[in-house]
Amino acid sequence: MKEHMPPSQEDEGSPAEPKCKRRRSSESCSWDILPVLSEEESQRITLLQAYAAPVLSKKETSRLVREVSAVHSLKSLQHLKRVRACKDRGSPHPLEMLLCLALAKEKGHVPSLSELLPEGQVNSCGLGQPFLVLVPSCPPLTRPQFQEASAHWPTSFHENKEVTKALTGQQFSREEKARMQRYMEQAIEVAQQGAERGNEAVGAVFVDPATEEVLAMGHDCRKSNNPLLHATMVCIDLVAHRQGGGAYNFDSYPSCSFVASVKGNSGTGAADLFDDAGSSVLPYICTGYDLYITREPCIMCAMALVHSRIQRVFYGTPSPDGALGTRYKIHTQKDLNHHFQVFRGILEEQCQQLREKWH
Ligand SMILES: [Zn+2]
Repeated sequence: MKEHMPPSQEDEGSPAEPKCKRRRSSESCSWDILPVLSEEESQRITLLQAYAAPVLSKKETSRLVREVSAVHSLKSLQHLKRVRACKDRGSPHPLEMLLCLALAKEKGHVPSLSELLPEGQVNSCGLGQPFLVLVPSCPPLTRPQFQEASAHWPTSFHENKEVTKALTGQQFSREEKARMQRYMEQAIEVAQQGAERGNEAVGAVFVDPATEEVLAMGHDCRKSNNPLLHATMVCIDLVAHRQGGGAYNFDSYPSCSFVASVKGNSGTGAADLFDDAGSSVLPYICTGYDLYITREPCIMCAMALVHSRIQRVFYGTPSPDGALGTRYKIHTQKDLNHHFQVFRGILEEQCQQLREKWH
């Protein structure tokens, strides 16, 4: 669903903002921000066949739950409730109880209670004839998954409120979205400047969300004969420069720039960071920072973002070989030791047009 975003108040009143930028802000005002969730979070739930039976005598319920659970613990299915109410199912009995999982080879034939519940261990008095049901195989991670799962069998759900807010588009305030739009506009602008010098039209901006300060901005610099200088790599290097490090020289690309740290001259920055405590507190270049980039980063850039401990990435449009949603979801990879949030869709149309224009 498209949300219409009016131009922000700040934009109108700020005399520092150049005129052309103000015009662009108010023209490009409809985009959606979407979380790029992990594979587990975004997939549909899968179902397993199980046997359930009606509880004919309600007062036997707790005894039956105890005895059946002792025989069929359903250890891997802790998210499933053992008993469901049948009030609104037009059923003659009030409750149904999950007995055990069905084996694939038993398909079609529904065993009797005595086949499912060993006599002597379960007194099946109070239960009706078993029947097949479909139950969700994994705990739901998102609200849409929870709703889908519960339609089959009641499921417990430990809601991640942040994810729910992100999925319903409520995670970011109007002010935050206006700010995001401005950062992405800067990324688009720097991408255009890079493209005018023969590079691919990709631009990136690093922001410290704690101070709302733009730390560095850069564009793809592969025309400088370094095939590794994708916009993200350029920007990480610029942030490193800002901290007194950095490996590359961007003198021929003045649009690739960083804002000197207010903590004094950048020449001693790195020395300060590495001081006394030594390698045990080795700083990660992008800890706590946000990256705005016109299009989805590739694998190399996504891994560089893992290594530099980025906090959040916002990109405009997906890339066919993208590693933050399209081909891979490096930011959610379980066996990597850093994970971060990724959102897509900020000024998607403009970012898409940028690619088309310079291709
Ligand atoms: Zn890349």
